[in-house]
Amino acid sequence: MAARPIDEMNRDETTALDLSLRPIDFAEFAGQAKIKERVEVLVQAARGRGEPIEHLLFSGPPGLGKTTLAHIIAHAMDADIKVTSGPVIEKAGDLAGLLTNLERGDVLFIDEIHRLNKAIEEYLYPAMEDFRLDIIIDQGPHARSVTLNLPRFTLIGATTRAGMISAPLRSRFGMVNRLDYYIPEDLKAIVLRSARILNVTIDDDAAAEVASRSRGTPRIANNLLRWVRDFAQVRGTGHATRDIADRALAMLEIDQDGLDEMDKRVLEAVVHRFDGGPVGINSLAVAVGEEPGTLEEVNEPFLILQGFLQRTPQGRVATKKTWSKLGLKPPGHQADLFTEA
Ligand code: ADP
Repeated sequence: MAARPIDEMNRDETTALDLSLRPIDFAEFAGQAKIKERVEVLVQAARGRGEPIEHLLFSGPPGLGKTTLAHIIAHAMDADIKVTSGPVIEKAGDLAGLLTNLERGDVLFIDEIHRLNKAIEEYLYPAMEDFRLDIIIDQGPHARSVTLNLPRFTLIGATTRAGMISAPLRSRFGMVNRLDYYIPEDLKAIVLRSARILNVTIDDDAAAEVASRSRGTPRIANNLLRWVRDFAQVRGTGHATRDIADRALAMLEIDQDGLDEMDKRVLEAVVHRFDGGPVGINSLAVAVGEEPGTLEEVNEPFLILQGFLQRTPQGRVATKKTWSKLGLKPPGHQADLFTEA
């Protein structure tokens, strides 16, 4: 099999690989210790009472394990899980269809729940709170409201935009958990586990290298590992050494800080086109040719975490670290910004 860049893999293939690498229980789920502990307590308590677990919301950037946790919870509760996503539920009837097909204890997972249409969201409130669905059937003079009783189910919502969840919806979740980027040791453990599943032999320092360039994100760590495996097979002996990992990652243009092409474009735009900022997210998005939402969800949180970008009320500002990364000195007014008060 020839090496192919990750983005050339077709969707089904990536999804299938994703599933095989997805941990199925808490013991296999690395990192996020606090969230894991809280959720395990909830599961144990609910099981002890013989009741379904309460509704949960997970937020955080893509690829950190929100969907995985929903599956792990369903598995731990011996429950079935039905998976859908906010934008897919277009009409009240779609939601009614989903809810009335649930059985007691089932988990309904709604990904991208912040993209749920507002009218649908309102149908969800009584469904979550009282396990009741009030729907209007017919139109005009024949319109009438019908109440359907629902089995006690668990709604697990996932969102990359916690700020876009309305207060009434948020308050109907028993617990809200925010997933953070993973620390390198946890990512390394994920890389080593995935390597075992994929049957790749990888040196410890090569696994650490893949981990450190994964933007704190398990999904990216797994994608990079697959790429390193392909590279090792074609350009090496099949064994992933540190040198192989370095060369493979260099070919993808992922730098030592784990920044990808878009991250670098963002930093270059802030510095070169906007003099280091402040610049608003929309102007920045136009400058780099990306959706403002994607910049806000994917690139910005990581660049802020790594200290390359600051968010100020006036807009995004490049830090000293950014200027020196680009081999430049901050201009006078920027240098002032970073002088300790
Ligand atoms: P999200 O729903 O937050 O976008 P996913 O749950 O789909 O992310 O996770 C993406 C992939 O990363 C999964 O297929 C899984 O293989 C891997 N993954 C995520 N979190 C972990 C973890 N804590 N331990 C091991 N693998 C993980």
